[in-house]
Amino acid sequence: MAETTHQFRAETCKLLNILTHSLYTNHEIFLRELLSNASDALEKVRFLQATGGDVRDPELPLEIRIAMDKDAHVITISDTGIGMSEQKMIDNLGTIARSGSEQFLREREAEKGDVKEAELVDDSKAEDDEEAIVERDDSKPSDAAQIIGRFGIGFYSVFMVAQKVEVTSVPATGDAVAHVWTSEGTGSFTLRALEGAEAEGIRRGTSVKIFLRDDAHEYEEKWRLESIIRKHSNFLPFAIELDGSRVNTTAALWREPKFSISKEQYNDFYKFLTYDQTEPLDVIHFSVDAPVQFNCLLYIPGTTVDVFDERKDEWGPDLYVRRVLIDRHNKELLPNWFAFMKGVVDTEDLPLNISRETLQENTILRKISQTATRQILTHLERLAKSDPEKYEAIWKLHGKYLKFSFDSYQYRDRVASLLRYATSTQGDKLSSLEDYIARMKPEQKEIWYVAGSTLEAAKVNPHLGQFRRKGVEVLYLTDPVDEFALETIMQFKDHPFKSVEMAEAGALDAYPDVEDAEPKPEPLSEAQKPELDALIAAVKTILGDQVKDVRVTQRPIDAAACLVSPEGVSSSMEKLMRVMQKSDGIPQKILELNPDHSLVRALMGICSANADDALLKDMVNSLFDSTLLLDGYMNDPFAMAERSMRLLKQAAGWYSDLRK
Ligand code: ADP
Ligand code: MG
Repeated sequence: MAETTHQFRAETCKLLNILTHSLYTNHEIFLRELLSNASDALEKVRFLQATGGDVRDPELPLEIRIAMDKDAHVITISDTGIGMSEQKMIDNLGTIARSGSEQFLREREAEKGDVKEAELVDDSKAEDDEEAIVERDDSKPSDAAQIIGRFGIGFYSVFMVAQKVEVTSVPATGDAVAHVWTSEGTGSFTLRALEGAEAEGIRRGTSVKIFLRDDAHEYEEKWRLESIIRKHSNFLPFAIELDGSRVNTTAALWREPKFSISKEQYNDFYKFLTYDQTEPLDVIHFSVDAPVQFNCLLYIPGTTVDVFDERKDEWGPDLYVRRVLIDRHNKELLPNWFAFMKGVVDTEDLPLNISRETLQENTILRKISQTATRQILTHLERLAKSDPEKYEAIWKLHGKYLKFSFDSYQYRDRVASLLRYATSTQGDKLSSLEDYIARMKPEQKEIWYVAGSTLEAAKVNPHLGQFRRKGVEVLYLTDPVDEFALETIMQFKDHPFKSVEMAEAGALDAYPDVEDAEPKPEPLSEAQKPELDALIAAVKTILGDQVKDVRVTQRPIDAAACLVSPEGVSSSMEKLMRVMQKSDGIPQKILELNPDHSLVRALMGICSANADDALLKDMVNSLFDSTLLLDGYMNDPFAMAERSMRLLKQAAGWYSDLRK
């Protein structure tokens, strides 16, 4: 039979060269490309049948078969899809950047006379308009959009593994005979019709026979093919039979209507996706049609996900385009403060052959991200109200990520209502900012917080005393990012966040005591003021350059002394800054003394008797050490222990004398 030889067009040759030698470094994806072509071809038959068209061999099941011949180093991928006529093979397999799928769609629409404009993405739609999110009506059959393939380069990826390819095809419509297209992927391809015995038994569809290159024999191994299919094509909507056994057992769950999916199916898919054997805490599943079409299935894991460790790149949902995996752990689909979520996004609105580079700053992905973020926030907000315990469990595991939303101006107000903190009045219970506001004192403006490296450290902060005594609730911030986040958000429902360390004198005077205060000494008399000045001068001399300054405090503290930073930032903020500047050691701060504290009064007495008293020196140093410790720093522990021993010895001596 006459065989015709055709030259690839010059640009096709060039592209072929680039494509097979550099674009995809990942050779195994050739299988994904061929399987998705087969799947597209099957979709077209399904579409024809669904719209009442006639197809050849209508009884054939819609499926894909893969056969291996190890002796000949050949694998064959056959489908019962739409097939290609001779001309179609010339057009589709001979020309790069021409999409047969798009052509098919145009023909169908010309026949039906109704071009579905609405199916195309409308970029003009408002991005931030919440009302514009249209959730998918699950009863509507997905049609045209499913089979649009916008670029025609995928097929050529086969030449990354093939030294020769033979495509045999019988079109599903008309009565054209089978043709064989053959090429070595260099300058030309040949075409011939099958006749007589050769053509016998050949049915509708396409089979791609791949003569593997010497360096590609791995692809004749069943286990290898199986793992590639599981990895890239497991959710294709048609059965893939490999040597007689079905490989893709999991359906594209995310495309199924919610009500039809059991909890077990959801969990199975989660395990498949993450290899995590712990049940997920929550499932978020939705489909959106506008402003952009996508299906989204996300899980909130029941175990902590540490994305800051060595697996820090393994976050972000997997991106599918029409059930075909395009990018694992895509980082454009969700903001990084949702990094703890695992799952899948599948869209009809992107071309299958989109490269990873183009995925960045892609407008469609940006729209998906915005829409998905709002949907997830709404879900979490509702959950926090309807099932606060479940929400709290999520917060405890993954809250540390949500806090980073302070970086996203657009969303941080919404995430603020999802924040949870332990507070000074609620014991072990966590509170939302709304809860806190509801419990505020009359006229209270600020949302007070205290930051510490642990809950214990926060609780003993010397600035907290008066707040406790007045019953003014204070949030405990124990995560280094907490204070940073609140300072950036600045306020919640018109209530500014403020560190207890920044409280002005008299800030709490309006509130009556709810706890008994320690008996305060009489107010300082005029005669005592020089004594206080003398003590301050003595303390300065004793501590030397360990402190920037020593002064009388104007803050509402109950403790004898506190440390403040000269820059007017809170202590935890200062620590964060020091970590960033990589400075270690103990910062030089200002020591403030509380003259209304009995210890300070006693020191004044000792000092006025003898400013050089050795014991006074030990006491001042010891007071400073303790204050430093509460601030989160440890001075020389050996000197501290020694001093403490000296003071103990003295105190014990006096006490035993006293009891004699
Ligand atoms: P795309 O799939 O993006 O259109 P490809 O290079 O993968 O680009 O394929 C080019 C074209 O070849 C397809 O659009 C389709 O018309 C045709 N084609 C490829 N494989 C098959 C197949 N198995 N059955 C029918 N047509 C196919
Ligand atoms: Mg393709």
